[in-house]
Amino acid sequence: MSPHIFDAIVIGVGGMGSAAACELARRGRRVLALEQFALGHDRGSSHGHTRIIRKAYYEHPDYVPLVCRAFERWYDLEQRQGVHLLTECPCLSIGRTDSSMITGVRASAAQHHLPVEALSAAELQQRFPPFCFDDGYVGVLERSAGFLYVEDCVQAHICEAVRLGATIQDMEPVVSWQANEREATVQTTTDRYTAARLIITAGPWAGQLLAQQGVFLRVMRQVVQWFGTRDDRLFRRDVFPLYIADTPQGHFYGFPVLNSNGAKVAQHYGAPEWRHPSEIDRAVQPQDEETIRSFLRRYLPLIDGPCRRVSVCVYTLTPDRHFVIDLHPDHANVALAAGFSGHGFKFAPVVGEILADLADHGRTELPIRMFSIQRFGRTS
Ligand SMILES: Cc1cc2nc3c(=O)[nH]c(=O)nc-3n(C[C@H](O)[C@H](O)[C@H](O)COP(=O)(O)OP(=O)(O)OC[C@H]3O[C@@H](n4cnc5c(N)ncnc54)[C@H](O)[C@@H]3O)c2cc1C
Repeated sequence: MSPHIFDAIVIGVGGMGSAAACELARRGRRVLALEQFALGHDRGSSHGHTRIIRKAYYEHPDYVPLVCRAFERWYDLEQRQGVHLLTECPCLSIGRTDSSMITGVRASAAQHHLPVEALSAAELQQRFPPFCFDDGYVGVLERSAGFLYVEDCVQAHICEAVRLGATIQDMEPVVSWQANEREATVQTTTDRYTAARLIITAGPWAGQLLAQQGVFLRVMRQVVQWFGTRDDRLFRRDVFPLYIADTPQGHFYGFPVLNSNGAKVAQHYGAPEWRHPSEIDRAVQPQDEETIRSFLRRYLPLIDGPCRRVSVCVYTLTPDRHFVIDLHPDHANVALAAGFSGHGFKFAPVVGEILADLADHGRTELPIRMFSIQRFGRTS
């Protein structure tokens, strides 16, 4: 067997590619996964310490079965690798009664019988005193939520994939690929490889490929910041939840204090959209801090200490903010997953499973109809 021939090649070893490589290796496939940068780099979408995982999914109730499976798969990966990846922690959604986020959380919880607790403005204030939302706001508290240590998750998938025999090569950008009915060929800056199946998980760099299919991905710069608090004991995870707030200034979210960096806070969306990651400004600008500080001054005034850490990250957006996970329209042996629109990480092990199903059988039993590439229609 030539060292350049594989059962499957995965392009991109971030959140989704590492999971796909791991699952394919678990199924006994000879896998090559190629990453353009160093493994664990901070230029894509899978860095910045933590990611929220929650079941009462306001974006659409059809995500709920997938996130339930994701919980199982993350626990499974923890066991296989002997590392801690997921910490359970309640998640509080805050918004006006008619906020689409609040109604969405309630709808998903009702449809899937998930236990959530409705909190009035007064109850919200009483239970979580650091918040200062006026009477027009309500909360929905979900206990079956938590957060993932994002870099550790990617590393665990990579380590498990390698343990199971996968070949993972970093610092090797893919410059082109071709597929015919029998095989796919990938050209990198240094070599050429062939496999029966190709999986494309290129994150923010997936846009060029999908534009040919009528899917117009955009990228959005997202800045995450950690601040000191007046008293970290008020923000420990036994007394303070994960939260997502729908305010007139936009959606903001944050974490309890998990270490000496303080409280992690960020805005969700709310920045210009770009065509390519090369257009993203990686430097931190004064306005980045002011956007978050103005949210904190108004709604969480006890988080007003120094900014201790900043991370610039990238969202890859589809027009409807739902994912693309599908076979390539022209090549039945090419599967792709992209456009996770700022909420995909929690699903990574399930996306890996779906991609392995698509590569192995051309179909999956998991519910992915809403992620079809065909929904955007091809323009050419
Ligand atoms: C600030 C921020 C907060 C977020 N919060 C949450 C959250 O709380 N919960 C949640 O579920 N999700 C969240 N997300 C979204 C989630 O992190 C992403 O959906 C997920 O990480 C996307 O993974 P990916 O594999 O598609 O992209 P990436 O992890 O970026 O991986 C793509 C990889 O492909 C590589 N690549 C691209 N082109 C090539 C090429 N030609 N050759 C070789 N390699 C290539 C890239 O270098 C990269 O490593 C957040 C995202 C950000 C930015």
